[in-house]
Amino acid sequence: MSTAYPFARPLYVMAKAAGPRCNLRCKYCYYLEKQHLVNSKKSPSSGGGLEGGYMSDELLEAYVRDYIQLQQVPEVLFTWHGGEPMLRPLSFYKQAVRYQQYYGRGRQISNCIQTNGTLLTSEWCQFLHDEGWLVGISIDGTQQMHDAYRLDAKGEETWQRVMNAIQMLQDYHVEWNAMATVNHANVGQPLEFYKFFRDELHCQFLQLSPIVERVRPTPDPSRGGRGGAEYSLVVPPGPFSPLPPREGSGVGLAPFSVKPDEWGRFLCTIFDEWVKHDVGETFVNVFDATLAGWMGVTPGICVYAEECGHAVVMEHNGDIYSCDHFVFPQYRLGNIRQQGLPQIIYGEKQTAFSRLKKESLPRQCRQCEWLKACHGECPRLRFLHTADGEPGLNYLCAGYRMYFQHVAPYMDFMRNELLAGRPAYGVMRAF
Ligand code: SF4
Ligand code: SF4
Repeated sequence: MSTAYPFARPLYVMAKAAGPRCNLRCKYCYYLEKQHLVNSKKSPSSGGGLEGGYMSDELLEAYVRDYIQLQQVPEVLFTWHGGEPMLRPLSFYKQAVRYQQYYGRGRQISNCIQTNGTLLTSEWCQFLHDEGWLVGISIDGTQQMHDAYRLDAKGEETWQRVMNAIQMLQDYHVEWNAMATVNHANVGQPLEFYKFFRDELHCQFLQLSPIVERVRPTPDPSRGGRGGAEYSLVVPPGPFSPLPPREGSGVGLAPFSVKPDEWGRFLCTIFDEWVKHDVGETFVNVFDATLAGWMGVTPGICVYAEECGHAVVMEHNGDIYSCDHFVFPQYRLGNIRQQGLPQIIYGEKQTAFSRLKKESLPRQCRQCEWLKACHGECPRLRFLHTADGEPGLNYLCAGYRMYFQHVAPYMDFMRNELLAGRPAYGVMRAF
């Protein structure tokens, strides 16, 4: 359970063993553009290169040692992220486990790997099973939903390969959860989407991420951009970025994005199904986070937390960035070859990044009745202006207001049940 919601931990690093490299070319991927930086000659600090393509053995050892030493909690969780982390051979991860055992000196160590699943083999499954790793698999729903955007480098569909991977994980009794993006192709079919995960995949943990990206045309896609796409993503608004470009600057919403009302309706529809049948059986990250907000505890996803900054990214060359969505030069915190992890993570820059999520809330959010569960959601999506012209309102705000209004009576009930020492699933009989 703890590995399913790592963001609730006090400190957390997503390690990119293969850097931004990936064998797929999902159309909405915010990390795809980083691939052209891998072989760049520019230094990372100059805003360009992520030299080398993969994490070296020497860096792996230093990272494992420092990360274990840094953790204040008894259990240490490692997360291997991408790009596609399975582009590294299994021998790399076996070596990581050896370092974990050596430097862990008996501490409990967990691992989680987040993958597109297409490179999974029986040898991998055996390893994942034997070592007790949790696997997060990216799948966006039914074949039609998934293959709308999740294509490989040849432009071929990937759904069947991912389904095969899930079957293998189940055959080998590997613990897994599903990570699904909600995008233009699936947001209009919420029930079909949800039932696919529940009834066909028998998925117990479902993590939803709405896709919202803003893009501008790329004059020459071969020099940056998104692997031949005609547009590139814009740097999201954030603590160290200037305010986002406004209308008329050539920036528009990417076609795969969800709209606020679509996101609101999607959540409400799935919630109605879940709250009648699945509480305590199927865990949906957004619903869990909302309940956490109602209870006044830190939610399992950073986007609904009061502050961000507890989940940094380490690129394959040791560069640390504030957040997976902010792997941009102005958010580079340092490199673990030159500084220790604690100095980087607890340094001034990351502390400021973390606090600004709260400090930069517009008045509309500060006065909002749903602030306890929303906290203005992720700063990277705060590119609207409020009704009175203040910048910094989250693009999905209208959808969230619809959702929070809808679920409030159920959340009140579940909170009261939990406070009374009873399980939350009583809500299924109460309405
Ligand atoms: S910027 Fe968004 S994704 Fe990044 S840590 Fe903050 S809330 Fe999370
Ligand atoms: S629902 Fe809207 S106004 Fe309320 S906290 Fe969230 S983003 Fe801000």
